[in-house]
Formats: sequence, structure tokens, C-alpha cells
Amino acid sequence: MGLITGHACASDSKGKTDDYLTYKKPIVISTWKNGVQANATAWDIIGKGGRSLDAVENGVKVVENDPEDMSVGYGGRPDRDGHVTLDACIMDENGNCGSVCALEHIRHPISVARKVMEDTPHIMLAGAGALQFALEKGFPKENLLTEKARREWEKWLQTAQYKPIINIENHDTIGMLAIDTFGNMSGACTTSGMAYKLHGRVGDSPIIGAGMFCDNDVGGAVATGTGELVMRTLGSFLAVELLRNGASPKEVAEDVVNRIIKKTPDYKDHQIGFLVLSKSGDVGAYAIQPGFNYAIHSENGPELIDSGSFL
Ligand code: ASP
Repeated sequence: MGLITGHACASDSKGKTDDYLTYKKPIVISTWKNGVQANATAWDIIGKGGRSLDAVENGVKVVENDPEDMSVGYGGRPDRDGHVTLDACIMDENGNCGSVCALEHIRHPISVARKVMEDTPHIMLAGAGALQFALEKGFPKENLLTEKARREWEKWLQTAQYKPIINIENHDTIGMLAIDTFGNMSGACTTSGMAYKLHGRVGDSPIIGAGMFCDNDVGGAVATGTGELVMRTLGSFLAVELLRNGASPKEVAEDVVNRIIKKTPDYKDHQIGFLVLSKSGDVGAYAIQPGFNYAIHSENGPELIDSGSFL
């Protein structure tokens, strides 16, 4: 089946959208257009009776592996000192979770996060310790800075002015949520973070509850955009708690974005997108700026949807 694209937003007034989508389970959803390929891999695993945890891990690995996606994994843009530092987290249907942050030289941080979850008594490993753990687990040490990313970084160094560029590839991230044929939900989130960030900066993406959260009884949420704003509200956790209280995914995504906007005087200079999936298969999204899109894979095949937005 071909790719269906559409607008899930019929904005009738500022801050209002009609993006309310409901699907039969199983289902895979993820942020941004590269989610289409990632979802296809995840869907394949679910179709063979696999676990949603395997689906989200292997789904986001597709984007980690793609040097053309310069905000995730291999080929990601470096920090201001030229280091590619990666953040990722993963969570299963039992509430188990694992995460790595500021990890260098490992192409698939999501798989290291899963190992942290499954093979250690901890949830998060950082920096040199995360690298040491990954190497001990047999992950190969690689140079993740591609020629293309290095050239762009060298050009940036000429002025060295950091400014988030809305929707334009200096930040992205893939966040994915999946419900398998057993009705179980898992989530994953992986990124190289803000391009040209300070060395050591960690964003929302590896923080359980900020960049991603799922609760098998209720649903899940993933975030993308300026991580600092998502961290202040622990946005994904907040979204799931609002779902628990009976709001729809669409209402929840709007609510969280509106809360961030209210506390952020310069919100017009930032993009934030939330994507929310309820346990029953309802999907909703919302962003500050137009331009945020997300991919869905269900029995209807692949779809790419434009999110509604505040502006
Ligand atoms: N949220 C990511 C971060 O702040 C980047 C993004 O999704 O745009 O690291």
C-alpha cells in the first residue's frame, strides 16, 4: 500500500485543531517523516507476532543508522567541540526502562539503553561510563561524525552562533510508540540532540517522562523540539497523566504544549511537538509551530500526518 499523507489539522482558530485519529490495534507511531521507514520495520516485527519492545528498538535503529538524518545516531550533528553525543531511552509494557545520555562512538544508543534496562540494576548511564558499558557489551566503537556533518560544523564554527532553527534539521529526534498484537505498548526515543550544543548538554530525549513515557494501562507520549522546555514540564509524563484523567490524545497534546507556551515568553523562537497514543489506539499531536509531522503505521498502511499547531 502506498503512503497516505494528510493534514490532521483543521485549524479554525488559534490553538484549536481537529486532529483526532482513531485506529485498530496493533499500531506504530513516530515523530517526523523519517518515522515512515522506521515504522515499517517496527510493523514488520509486530506483524510476525513480535513484542512492541523489539519493534520500537529496531524501528528507531533504522534512523540511527541513516547518515542523512543529521539529528539522530550516525551522521548526527556534533556539539560545539565536534563531538557527536547521543541520548536515548526505551520503556516496555511493564514499566521497565533504560537510558543513556552523552554517549559517544556508539551507533545504536537505543540498544545500549535496552541493555541498561535488561542487564543492570540501573536506569541511566552517562558519558564515559555509558561508553565503557557499551564496549563491555560488545558494541563496536565507531567514528559517528560524517564528512558532511564535519563540514557543516566547521562552517558553523566561523560564526559559532547558536540559535535553534525551527523545524530545520538542527534538532529533530525520533520518538516511537507501538502497541503489539498482545495489546502491549512500548516506547523509544533517540537523538543526537541540539546541534552545536555545549559539550555535556543532555536534553529531554533520554529522560524518562520528559522525552518519552508510556504506561501500559493508559497510553504513551513522545516529545521533540527544544528539550529544555520539555524537561521543565516533564511533558511526556504529564501527557500520560492527563490521558489517565480521561482527556483524548489530541486534548492532551494541546494541553501540554499550551502549558509550555504559557511559561515561555520567547516560545515563538522554539518548536515543540508532542505525539500521544492511547491504549485504545487513539492518536493526537500538537506543536508550537507548523511543520511538525508524524508517521503512523496500522492495518491501513503507512501514513504521514501534519500536526496541528498553536501558531
Ligand atoms: N528534543 C531534542 C533535544 O532537545 C531535540 C529535538 O527533538 O529536536 O535534544
